[in-house]
Amino acid sequence: MTAAPRPRLRFADAARPALADTALRRDLRDGAAAVRARRAAAVAETPDWAELRAAGRALKDRTLLNLDACLERLERAVTAAGGTVHWAVGAAEAARTVARLAGGAAVAMPAAPVLEEIGAADALAAAGSTVHRTGADAEFPAVRTAVTGVDVMVAETGAMVLLEWAGDARRCLAVPDALITVAGIEQVVPDRADLEVLLRSLPRSAGERLTPAVSVWTGVAPGDGPAAFHLVLVDNGRTRALADEIGRAALRCVGCAACLDVCPVYERTGPGPYGAPPGGPIGAVRVPLQRGVGSAATASLPFASTLCGACADVCPVEIDIPEVLVHLRGEVVDARRGRPVPTPELAVMRAAAWTMGDPQRYEAALRGGVRWARLLSRGGRIRRLPGRFGAWTDARDLPAPPARSFRVWWRDRAGAR
Ligand code: SF4
Repeated sequence: MTAAPRPRLRFADAARPALADTALRRDLRDGAAAVRARRAAAVAETPDWAELRAAGRALKDRTLLNLDACLERLERAVTAAGGTVHWAVGAAEAARTVARLAGGAAVAMPAAPVLEEIGAADALAAAGSTVHRTGADAEFPAVRTAVTGVDVMVAETGAMVLLEWAGDARRCLAVPDALITVAGIEQVVPDRADLEVLLRSLPRSAGERLTPAVSVWTGVAPGDGPAAFHLVLVDNGRTRALADEIGRAALRCVGCAACLDVCPVYERTGPGPYGAPPGGPIGAVRVPLQRGVGSAATASLPFASTLCGACADVCPVEIDIPEVLVHLRGEVVDARRGRPVPTPELAVMRAAAWTMGDPQRYEAALRGGVRWARLLSRGGRIRRLPGRFGAWTDARDLPAPPARSFRVWWRDRAGAR
């Protein structure tokens, strides 16, 4: 069985093919610009947008602080409505559970980030199920079992709520045998009344006033819809993120994708280099928060950002993604500090700290550096730095430093008075 998707290459390496693909970059740029314009229009005609964002943030924070009790309440409500709740610690366990519940039957499975996260399609195929990915698939009417994601779960009633544009998941509610819904544990809200905030803010943040299909389903009803309803609740590192006082803000995410469409990095690379959905700024924090920064690939993600702050400005639940990115960068640096052989970056930083710790050393280094840099310059610019520093000048050049440093200029000026 193929494992659930995860980043395997450092972001910079994984991004190279996308950066070299001019057509992809043009499509990403045009697509992001169109969504940004639609979102701006939808938000502009919502006078209480700031209040909606604050309410969304408060709702999600309140839920996360009582997540255990909220999930137990959800389980009771789903069970009372005739459904069955399954708990999965990891992605592989969740995928195995989905495959077992499908029992080798053909399934309809519209795309959903959590299904991609756990590798549901591969697990189902390995267990003998034929997977029909979209409602447009001509074999679809014969399918008796469906697997879906969900946007919000209501603990009070056990209701599942899904907003969509094409209506593929809505068709899945009519399968006769079994409906299997997979959700991250953070997707719950306490009460039905809480939907008011998210049903207003989520579509607008995704660039629409309303989504064409808002589906709500609860347990089973004899003679109406599937005979069995299963809810698979996935942790997969979410409790790890919840334990992080700064990082837990990322679990507020409602999956609107607004942060992706304003990110200057995502606009040039697309989702591929992030290794796992959803990618973009929220992916750059969620993956390391859920998996840790132990691998070079996940450790590179917090650095895949300019920290421009556009993602924080648009987020409908006020996640300060740059703050979490900086926090995770600190974790990466701390994790590397204890290594017996320092990374090149750490070695350079230590050498810089040693040099700058003494005024004479600093001036000597400055004089040497200026001489060296001026030797490399042509016409007042340095077009190519040697060795590993060459990566800096791959896409830009540097102005040559002035012959006299500020310190020397200041000393000369003071002496002349
Ligand atoms: S983090 Fe991004 S995808 Fe999640 S709610 Fe905020 S803007 Fe939307």
